[in-house]
Amino acid sequence: MKKRDSHPRSGVFPEAWDRGPDPETLVPGQAAKLAELREIAPPRAADYERASRGLAGAADPAELLERHSMILGRERGQVTLALGEVGKLPIEERKRTGRALNLIKRWLAEISEARRSQLEAAADSRSGPDVTLPGRRPWVGRPHVLAQIQSELLDLFHGLGYSVYESRESELDEYNFGKLNFAPDHPARDAHDTYFLSPGVVMRTHTSPGWVRAMEERRPPLRLVFPGRVYRAEQVDASHMDQFHQIDGLNVGPDVSMADLKGTLNTFARSIYGERVRTRLIPIYFPFVEPGCQMDVSCVICDGRGAVTENGSERRCSVCRGSGWLEVLGAGMVHPNVLRAVGYDPEQVTGFAFGMGLERIAMLRHGVPEIRLFLENDVRFLGQF
Ligand SMILES: [Zn+2]
Repeated sequence: MKKRDSHPRSGVFPEAWDRGPDPETLVPGQAAKLAELREIAPPRAADYERASRGLAGAADPAELLERHSMILGRERGQVTLALGEVGKLPIEERKRTGRALNLIKRWLAEISEARRSQLEAAADSRSGPDVTLPGRRPWVGRPHVLAQIQSELLDLFHGLGYSVYESRESELDEYNFGKLNFAPDHPARDAHDTYFLSPGVVMRTHTSPGWVRAMEERRPPLRLVFPGRVYRAEQVDASHMDQFHQIDGLNVGPDVSMADLKGTLNTFARSIYGERVRTRLIPIYFPFVEPGCQMDVSCVICDGRGAVTENGSERRCSVCRGSGWLEVLGAGMVHPNVLRAVGYDPEQVTGFAFGMGLERIAMLRHGVPEIRLFLENDVRFLGQF
């Protein structure tokens, strides 16, 4: 008994490890193991007890690995080093110590492994959703930029007393052309080169066939806008697509005049391009109006000057190409032949009409250089509006 007490523990492990839990719950049979070690090599039993509590008390995988290396590491582990010294002992002590260290090595490895499994199981049970993480903002779509402009225009014209009339995209040749005063061989049809679905049926080249259908269905007065997609067999380039969007407007009644047209268009221009915008009407030919005109607005980029100042020097405005004006729509007084074609009497009623392209408005407003972007469905582009 006295001899054993004269062999104090070697003290190679931190004393604090003694406060670790009894490893009995991890690997049963510790009392028997300790008794056996005390029998063979009492100081090693004390080291074993401290090391076993150190492993069982490791707070997390990192601490466990650190302690495991300190005890059992292949290079610097204390048990490994002690085994390396066994050969220098006297023969009788060599046998006992060697046996004790090998038992210690095996038993501590069992405790280390059991604690590792326990820590991993605890981590798995905690790996549910982390409620402290900031939420992920869900991806929310929005109306297409052309849909935004269309709804803005419909709002504006609704305020001016216009209702929406939706018309078909596949249209009879007679409605797309004939009743709108296009003579069968008139060169104006060349600008409306179109897709034929079958003889006499085309994809509409403009939203104006809606006027004919609306006037045939209803009696004047009427104020309608006709939004929709139109098709032309165009060579596609940066400013031409074979499908695009228009809004036509039609106001027919007993006393509708060119002055009403001008007032309506000015209201439109100020609402869309800003209060400071100036407008002008230029005579132009469309088969379905007489007189026909094109409305220009003062350039929104250079404010109508035709030039912009950049780094102190003047250069030509590229948007209006130096003219100071932008062409934004076509308009005019409804041609008497069109009124007759739908059964109206041009002596009793008159009307004005206008039509504009949504892509052109969007390109001017947002500085979009390429009409094809509107149809490509690339959210990097569409997400900007
Ligand atoms: Zn300009």
